[in-house]
Amino acid sequence: MKTLITGGAGYIGSHCVKKFLEQGHEVVVLDNLSRGHQEAVPQNVELEVINLLDADKLKPLLEKHKIEAIVHFAAFAYVGESVESPAEYYQNNVVGSFNLIKAAAEIGIKKFVFSSTCSLYGNPDSIPISEEESIKPINPYAKTKMMVENILADFNRAYGLNYVALRYFNAAGADPSGSIGESHEPETHLIPLVIQTALGEREKILVFGDDYKTEDGTCIRDYIHVNDLSDAHLKALEYLNDGNESTAINLGTGSGFSVLEIIKEVEKIADAPVKFEIVDRREGDPAVLVADNKKAKKLLGWSPQNKLSDIILHALNWHKNPKY
Ligand code: UDP
Repeated sequence: MKTLITGGAGYIGSHCVKKFLEQGHEVVVLDNLSRGHQEAVPQNVELEVINLLDADKLKPLLEKHKIEAIVHFAAFAYVGESVESPAEYYQNNVVGSFNLIKAAAEIGIKKFVFSSTCSLYGNPDSIPISEEESIKPINPYAKTKMMVENILADFNRAYGLNYVALRYFNAAGADPSGSIGESHEPETHLIPLVIQTALGEREKILVFGDDYKTEDGTCIRDYIHVNDLSDAHLKALEYLNDGNESTAINLGTGSGFSVLEIIKEVEKIADAPVKFEIVDRREGDPAVLVADNKKAKKLLGWSPQNKLSDIILHALNWHKNPKY
């Protein structure tokens, strides 16, 4: 099946491209390279440097490559930036996605896998978080993802575009080969920052609050290996291929780790001390986010294969020798 992967030069997208190629899929990457890395796209893969806001270019592109399925990652993904610049987020994430979905529907493409987020649950009422949890995003980034899920649901009803929205918990880790990994500018995510501190590239890590209602007072998150996410995208496409109905599915391990536990695990695996300082809470951070992943197991036959130690080992391997 010929698949278009948007954002295929980005962190999760590039891991997905690798996985799809390994499984014998034909892949075309669309990326405007505003945040992605050209080096992350294998040389034998066609890369179309196109902006999703250039709506006129999308139908010709899909037709030219005879695309049969779309996996859509391309989006801005910084919560803080989305609060400061909501216009850019709504334009890039919502309008861009709408252009792509509309072009796909007009051509009659029936299979669409969307990169969504657990942040659309906001401050959840119960843990672990199932897909039944109410949708109440608390920042523009998460609202853009909710809106695109809504567009997909309406297009499914009206035009028969089938989709799976995958709601990720905390993506982390890197491909064990060391050829691709996480490289954000600026980096804001916990695991890369802690690793860079262990490697002596940063003086210390700031821990955002130790007065949460958790065992050690720091926030708990469900860290999921990027290759387990890629695997789920492949399975979501197979699920659609088998004629199953459109839906939204959580992707997490079901286990949570606190910020201090992450620091300890990195110290152990990197065999180096990590200096940290407790500072004020970061605005908008819920205390605990852990997935109920039963639906992914049941519908996709998916279960995460990597443990926290694998995530950290592979991320460490990448950060010791990043290629971009
Ligand atoms: N965090 C932290 N210091 C940092 C970055 C993150 O204490 O420099 C905490 C953050 O408050 C959250 C967890 O680490 O509880 C994971 O944050 P990250 O930004 O990696 O992902 P998020 O949960 O925001 O998607």
